[in-house]
Amino acid sequence: MTSATKTAIEKPLTFTADEAFARHLDSVDPLRASRDEFHIPKRSNGQPMIYFAGNSLGLQPKGTRRIVDQELDDWAKLAVDAHFEGKTPWYSYHEIFRQSGARLVGALPGAGADEVVMMNSLTVNLHLMMVTFYQPTKDRFKILIEEPCFPSDIYAVTSHVRTRGLDPRRAIIVAKPRKGEHTLRMDDLEELIEREGKSLALIMLSGVNFFTGQVMDIARMTAAGRRQGCVVGWDLAHAAGNVPTRLHDWNVDFAVWCSYKYLNSGPGAVAGCFVHQRHGQNSQLPRFAGWWGNDPETRFKMQLIPEFVPRHGADGWQISNPPILSMAPLKASLDLFDRAGMDALRKKSLLLTSYLRFLLGEQAAPGSWQIITPERPEEHGCQLSILINDHPRERFKALLSAGVVGDFREPNVIRIAPTPMYNTFHEAWTFANILGRQK
Ligand SMILES: *Cc1c(COP(=O)(O)O)cnc(C)c1O
Repeated sequence: MTSATKTAIEKPLTFTADEAFARHLDSVDPLRASRDEFHIPKRSNGQPMIYFAGNSLGLQPKGTRRIVDQELDDWAKLAVDAHFEGKTPWYSYHEIFRQSGARLVGALPGAGADEVVMMNSLTVNLHLMMVTFYQPTKDRFKILIEEPCFPSDIYAVTSHVRTRGLDPRRAIIVAKPRKGEHTLRMDDLEELIEREGKSLALIMLSGVNFFTGQVMDIARMTAAGRRQGCVVGWDLAHAAGNVPTRLHDWNVDFAVWCSYKYLNSGPGAVAGCFVHQRHGQNSQLPRFAGWWGNDPETRFKMQLIPEFVPRHGADGWQISNPPILSMAPLKASLDLFDRAGMDALRKKSLLLTSYLRFLLGEQAAPGSWQIITPERPEEHGCQLSILINDHPRERFKALLSAGVVGDFREPNVIRIAPTPMYNTFHEAWTFANILGRQK
């Protein structure tokens, strides 16, 4: 990324609400060409939808089909030999994501890169991480989560507590927003970590909250937890590809994320997992094992009772051989992230989302809605969560029929996520006008 493209777009001193200004922002957007890399779904009238649901399922990059086809061809033509002779040999397929995965989440780059592996799905990875990193003792047995917490994470955390013979009502602590507020205050969260620290075995929070879009201070909360001797893991489902992170420097113990939201790798795509190097080097850590986590040198040794020797790094938590057809789309996706660069994406994202917030403020009939996502740049990513006070469901339906795809969370929140990869400023402008015109 050259400095020219990095600095070409600066937050204008004042936004204006006219259409020409939206067009202007698009014309000076250094990332505007990346929209052409994606299939944009169309309405029945042939017009492109305004797709603001990239936080649920990212759009398909045009390059994906070719990459998947390549694997189908290798399977057809080479069959078992494609493990070593395919264009991208299947045997080591997961290794091609080490560098791009590290760049994506701020893991160790270069020759030392072994902190990231793409495998399984998010919740499965969360389970694998908790097998290793949730080690309750008599005094230190609790897990800290936040509210609202994604259902899958609650199920996973609760099941671990139960399988260790503990009572979830005692072992799970929930950090909640203050009464009348929608998002957590980092001061409150840090204070809670300090107060409960000695009883906490694990702090398991979301980097970006799925419901409110709030970005947590991952560095500060990780440091607070580690000062208390806790393991600190992060669910980055809504953070990966949305906000830059520096997981290695921030000393995060582990992190998991999915690849079908901001990472555009398709429904149920293969997920990501980060294990800090200080753990990746520790072959003594308890874990669930399978042949793909074993050192490749001895993976096939046919001893009567083979001894599991974990591969160093995050690779050592793999279980099965990688699902090539599901992993191929990651290649198309991560190439696009590498080409754009997280810094440039974040820069456009901040501009796009703050512009949308400005436009909604211009439109609002007082009291009809309220944005619950924090406004400070370091506390939000792409998403704005809009709490609708009157006729939430009807308003959402009307948006859909006007060609806007967002999503609706019971009882009254519409989540809108303009992504810097493929959304435009003009789409934000159009959306604000559609919502504003509603009665
Ligand atoms: C999307 C999401 C998940 C999804 O879990 P899968 O295992 O991929 O189905 C989990 N946690 C959070 C916070 C999410 O936003």
